[in-house]
Amino acid sequence: MIGLIVNLISFRLLMAGAKESLNVKGAYLEVFSDMLGSVGVIVAAIIIFTTGWRYADPLIGAAIGLFILPRTWKLMGQALRILMEVAPPGLDVDEVEARIRALPGIADVHDLHIWTVTSGLDTASGHVVLADDAELHAILDRVTTLLAEEYQVTHTTIECEPASHEEHVNPI
Ligand SMILES: [Zn+2]
Repeated sequence: MIGLIVNLISFRLLMAGAKESLNVKGAYLEVFSDMLGSVGVIVAAIIIFTTGWRYADPLIGAAIGLFILPRTWKLMGQALRILMEVAPPGLDVDEVEARIRALPGIADVHDLHIWTVTSGLDTASGHVVLADDAELHAILDRVTTLLAEEYQVTHTTIECEPASHEEHVNPI
């Protein structure tokens, strides 16, 4: 019973942070399954005590397992996304590339990558080819502002190339 109370307190504390960080989400899930386990044991004990139905305990245990499994699966998927450097969910890299290309002073964009370093921290790297009359400082500001304000990608590495650089990068 004391275990259950401690679980309930941890559960409340972790609930707020669970939306932000994958680590907190993992801890939250563990406390949550512990809590369900404690409740399950109490409920099973009451059922067995009052009705004598001995299957209550394994059945409740299995039901809790089935309830937790998809949540663990989802968490694992999110962890894998980070490990494999996949673009953050809901972010369309092609769309971002088109938006950058449409900015004034930019002739082209290539090698654009956007990925999640850790939960809550998205990173972008890419090459932008400057138009002939483009001003480097303004271009950098435009690209980084677009990424930060529209897509919440705040850590960026942008390589700015003059148009003549293209031949150098891709020799025939
Ligand atoms: Zn390049």
